[in-house]
Amino acid sequence: MPSLPEPEFDELYRELILDHYRNPRNRRQLPSPDVVAEGYNPLCGDELELYLSFDGKVVSDVGFQAQGCSISRASASMLTEVILGKEIDEVRSLIAAFRSMMTDPEAEPAEELGDLEALQGVAKFPVRVKCATLAWHALEDGLDRHEAAPSGQPIRTKVE
Ligand code: ZN
Repeated sequence: MPSLPEPEFDELYRELILDHYRNPRNRRQLPSPDVVAEGYNPLCGDELELYLSFDGKVVSDVGFQAQGCSISRASASMLTEVILGKEIDEVRSLIAAFRSMMTDPEAEPAEELGDLEALQGVAKFPVRVKCATLAWHALEDGLDRHEAAPSGQPIRTKVE
């Protein structure tokens, strides 16, 4: 893999990121997910699969499997924690909030992002932003296709 710049994080943020990297939340496949969204980041080699199940408009279950750098895996782990039990509209608002945090290093992160605030430092390293946003792109693509599909039909999708 190419050697990419390593963002420096405040101590507290670094510990949060490492904790999600070492002890990922919801790292599991779902038995029969409504959506399987794959993501691949060729810049760094990160790969992931995100699994989503819905109960109506609510994310009733979420899981992921990933290989790659600590930023991509921590971001995916944090993503699963923050979207579980949320309605699709709320999830879309989280996606927008995360994206704006990644495009403006100076902005105050939205409160709803919770632990994800730890990743704000990545915004200063444009080449690493794709690591942090990979799971979010997969999530958004999966939601788009889920909402466009006839109800009950499982979706499989891939983003790069
Ligand atoms: Zn990466």
